[in-house]
This record gives sequence, structure tokens and C-alpha cells, in this order.
Amino acid sequence: MPITRLAPSPTGALHLGNARTFLVNWAMARQQGWRVLLRIEDLDGPRIKADAAADAIDTLRWLGMDWDEGPSYQSRDPAPYHAALTRLAAQGAIYPCRCTRSEVLAASAPNEGDAELRYSGACRPAGPTPLEFVADPRVAWRVRTEDRTEVFDDGCVGRVSENPHRTVGDFLVATKAGVPSYQLAVAVDDARQGVDRIVRGVDLLSSTPRQSLLRGLLGLAPEPAHWHLPLVVGPDGRRLAKRHGDTRVGYYRGLGVPPERIVALVASWSGLPKQPRLSAAQFAQRFDIARLPPERVVFQEEHDAWLKAADAGS
Ligand code: GLU
Repeated sequence: MPITRLAPSPTGALHLGNARTFLVNWAMARQQGWRVLLRIEDLDGPRIKADAAADAIDTLRWLGMDWDEGPSYQSRDPAPYHAALTRLAAQGAIYPCRCTRSEVLAASAPNEGDAELRYSGACRPAGPTPLEFVADPRVAWRVRTEDRTEVFDDGCVGRVSENPHRTVGDFLVATKAGVPSYQLAVAVDDARQGVDRIVRGVDLLSSTPRQSLLRGLLGLAPEPAHWHLPLVVGPDGRRLAKRHGDTRVGYYRGLGVPPERIVALVASWSGLPKQPRLSAAQFAQRFDIARLPPERVVFQEEHDAWLKAADAGS
């Protein structure tokens, strides 16, 4: 049976953009009989907020979603990530980096059209050197990227090719003190949890070639199928965030807006006609990924007003 995952990062409360991604992912799974895992991606230490994981789980349930396995928490068992890092180090595929943040920033070249920087390679050894992986508070670890293009076919975006060596260079696989990076943790977890269907926001599109590269180095199972969904942005075109006012699902819930109203708004953004209310189960019956508008959704004041309108309640 195919397997997908809902993978919230408890760095803040779920907003309407997250709700749309999760509802589409969940609807595709329930339509097509995929198994759903709930995985809490809570490795990003300083950005993790207390209670945000419990809040995300509660919000997903309140919206009407369910899952077949989990929640699992990445922070609870470092062993699979450390095993992968040990293996990569023994292969000479990763190397320790002692650069400080400001050194990395100063030496990195901005990467065209993107906010991400390309690592200069200051700590990169001349050739692949087999090493022992150690967690050290002063040392991060980076992968030796080869000058090679990764190619995959995305269900929303079409063919994607990217050469991570050229775009971001030797990216982090562990931050200081041996904490696995997002890229490493996701590559390891998707493979060990048998995830073969990935549905997420298009902001993560350029992570896929990095995760493929790591999967390849680790000899992990075949590449999952991907759908990178258009984002929900604010009127300024930037990804939905605090600057656009309170767009948390919990905010509307607190005002007495029912979950079916939020699902109905998401449905109207996702190729379905606007209806006053729709349950998650009804959304799953009617949603069609082939009709998902390819443009990003611009969250406007009128959406906020519609959620709060008098006919929102039952
Ligand atoms: N945890 C990530 C997020 O909330 C999603 C990771 C993924 O889907 O690979 O943005």
C-alpha cells in the first residue's frame, strides 16, 4: 500500500496555508487508499515552540483529518540519523565544517534568484576522506556535492532539474552538536518509514534534489512520487506569515468559525466551487488534483471576512 506523511514542524501554529497543504495531502491519500503517517518534525531546536506539536495535532483533527500511524517525533530517537551520518562519514561523503555563521555568510555567493546562499567550500577536503562521525558542539557536517543534475517528475510542477552543487553547494547534513539537518532527517525518515508519496508546498521544491542526492549516497529505496503544491501567499506575494495578520486556524476556531467553513475556503482555492461549508471527508470525495489551479493563492481580506461572515456558523 502506498504511504504518505503529514509532517508539521512545530515552529508555530498552523495557518490557512498549512491547512490547505495538509487537506490536499490527506484528501489524495483517502481517495487513493494511501496509508497516512503523522510525523512531527521537531529537530529545529531553537525554533520549536512548546505546545506547538500538540496544537498541530489537535488542529489537524479538528479540521477532520486522521492518520493510520503516529504521531512520531523526530527528536525522540536520534539513532537512525546518527547511523546515516556514520555511514556517510565512513564513505567520505560528508565532512566536518568549523565555519562560523558569519564566515559562511561572508564567503558564500548568493544563489541567483533565491535567498539561499551557496557554501564556498572553505572546509571541503580535496578528496573524499573516510572519517568517523562525531557530534561536537563546534562542528557541523556538510555533504560533498558532486557537479551533477538531479532530475525528477513532479505531479504539479512537471519535470524539475537541479544541480545542488551549483545552487547551494555542500549543504548541511548536521548542524553543530550533531543535530541532523532537515534534509538528512527527511531523507532518512521517508526511506525508513516507507514513504513513497510526498505532497508538500512548492517552497520545498529545491529540497527534493538534495534529499534525492542523500538517498542515493545512502543507497535508500527508490525515489518517492512528489506533488509540490502552489503556496498560499499574502497580498504582497510573500508566503503567508504573521505579517499578513492572524491567519492561524486556531484564531478562527477561537472566534467560533466551524472547521467546515475553513475546509470550504480551502476547497474554493483548490478547484472546487465555493460552498458555505464542507467537511474534510466531503472535500476528499470531491477534490481532483488534476483540477488544482497551478497559480498560487493570494489570501485577501475578503477571505478573512468570508470566514467570519454570519452564515459561517451552522
Ligand atoms: N516539516 C516541513 C514543514 O512543515 C515539511 C517537510 C516535508 O514535507 O518534507 O514545512
